[in-house]
Amino acid sequence: MDLCAQCPRQDDKGCCGFYSPVFYPTDLAYLYINEPELLRHIFSLDRLTILDASVTVNNVIEGESYRCRFHSQAGGCTLPQHLRESVCRHFVCAGIGWMEEEGLQDWRDFFENLTEYEIETNNRWSEILAAMGITLRKPDLRDRFFSELAKLYQENLDNLPDFMKSMPKEEVRTLRRSLNFGTAWIL
Ligand code: SF4
Repeated sequence: MDLCAQCPRQDDKGCCGFYSPVFYPTDLAYLYINEPELLRHIFSLDRLTILDASVTVNNVIEGESYRCRFHSQAGGCTLPQHLRESVCRHFVCAGIGWMEEEGLQDWRDFFENLTEYEIETNNRWSEILAAMGITLRKPDLRDRFFSELAKLYQENLDNLPDFMKSMPKEEVRTLRRSLNFGTAWIL
């Protein structure tokens, strides 16, 4: 779900005004295999924080908050949902409070499992790549970083945990909420 383009806060940026997306190995592997142009674009940006196995696209100061580099005043996030990093990809506006909804506890459990699985996978892959002496900090090692990462990604795809198959690939559920505007929309 993505309300960010018309955030009830009416500040043209909602939560994205306080966040800098961080791409971890699972995000980077997906982009490398499916959207290499976007990956190249990310690494061509300035104001990045590049660590051994992650890259942060730092936001810029704007007024009393910030603006994410992928956020457009006209339409919210410029990245399609499946190309965002994990936090942004799974983000559902806190004002909706979907996790407290009784009928959605199965999805809450699923996303908790997914978060744990992603953290564990990112840590494990980071350790494997570090043990090989590969780091994103050194530009000349990045090709090797991504080719090794792609192998790890494929291995994981071939051995998905059971919880991944526990929910349907697509499902429509409808929640109704009254909107408040400006700072009365609590995040
Ligand atoms: S990447 Fe998109 S969803 Fe994430 S903070 Fe930036 S604009 Fe918002």
